[in-house]
Amino acid sequence: MQVPAHVEYERATSVDHALGLLARYGPEARVLAGGHSLIPMMKLRLAQPETLVDINDLSELAGLGVTDGELRIGAMVRHAQLLDHAEAGELFAILHDAERVIADPIVRNWGTIGGSLCQADPSEDLSATFAALQATMIIRGLDGERSVAARDFHTGPYETVVRPGEILTEIRIALHPTIGPRTDPKTGRKTGGGPGSLRRGSAYQKVGRRVGDWPVGAAGAAVWLSDGTVAEVGIGLSAVGARHFSAAEAEDFLRGAPATAQAFEQAGQIAAEHCRPSSDQRGPADYKRHLARELTIRALDLALRRAQAAEPSGAERASGGPGGRPPGSNRTAR
Ligand SMILES: Cc1cc2nc3c(=O)[nH]c(=O)nc-3n(C[C@H](O)[C@H](O)[C@H](O)COP(=O)(O)OP(=O)(O)OC[C@H]3O[C@@H](n4cnc5c(N)ncnc54)[C@H](O)[C@@H]3O)c2cc1C
Repeated sequence: MQVPAHVEYERATSVDHALGLLARYGPEARVLAGGHSLIPMMKLRLAQPETLVDINDLSELAGLGVTDGELRIGAMVRHAQLLDHAEAGELFAILHDAERVIADPIVRNWGTIGGSLCQADPSEDLSATFAALQATMIIRGLDGERSVAARDFHTGPYETVVRPGEILTEIRIALHPTIGPRTDPKTGRKTGGGPGSLRRGSAYQKVGRRVGDWPVGAAGAAVWLSDGTVAEVGIGLSAVGARHFSAAEAEDFLRGAPATAQAFEQAGQIAAEHCRPSSDQRGPADYKRHLARELTIRALDLALRRAQAAEPSGAERASGGPGGRPPGSNRTAR
């Protein structure tokens, strides 16, 4: 039987209390969220924190809903809650695509969004998802709050910008990207024209060895369409050695391009060329590179079809969100 080393345990009653406990116990204290990653690592003695600060009672971190033009996801929202949240899925189908294929119901029922991101496994599905959505991470310490772009959140395998003594509190996704009319210097094509005229679609595609397993390769895409042109796009990649879990060069190629199968194939090729996959027990590097290409194309294609079927995002804003819900409803669904 694997048994963790001796550890002190504290149960926080508020974010401020948790931050105080982390400060008091120092750098060898660790936050305990769902424990699905941390506890197995402690059993294997790959992690040996001296103190666990349990944040499971912090309802402050469990909010989920639209506020001030952003979908806000508390760090303690469980995978299953995000998967069950209709408004999140209607706004960004990529979230439900990804959550549906993360682990199994037991892990999804208790594992948290914040824990997944802070674990920073290079094969983690939500890191690619939030990179595609160009999300912002909110981090709190005793000195206050700071925000970091999802693409700057990870500093390496199992490493993030969250410092000892800090807590990831929330993930925010803007409903309407900031896009002004602009002209592509190479083609002279005009793109953009304000969020009111845009249609949004997103999707996530994953290949794993078996149901509930980590990805061999995965890609997510979010597109904003303006009259058949890609006004804005985000592409996230997981498990294929993509820098910042994203495909920035493929995005640059697509911005302002017509949303066509040919353009998507070219974007998939560019995404694959910029990956640095490594061979491991999940598959050889060349297969993973192939997946990066194919899954990018498929994610873009599905995101496009969803965008074409969607209402323009301005219309959605006028009616207060998908289904006509006022912004901010569902804010604390659990
Ligand atoms: C069998 C199995 C299959 C899995 N399959 C997949 C999969 O297919 N795809 C996938 O993406 N993931 C997969 N996972 C990972 C799973 O999603 C994570 O284990 C889990 O969600 C991590 O969240 P947690 O709340 O359990 O984090 P914990 O284990 O509690 O914490 C993980 C780390 O994050 C830190 N931490 C947690 N929350 C915060 C916070 N708010 N601020 C600062 N630091 C924090 C902890 O100190 C710890 O270092 C799988 C896990 C298991 C066990």
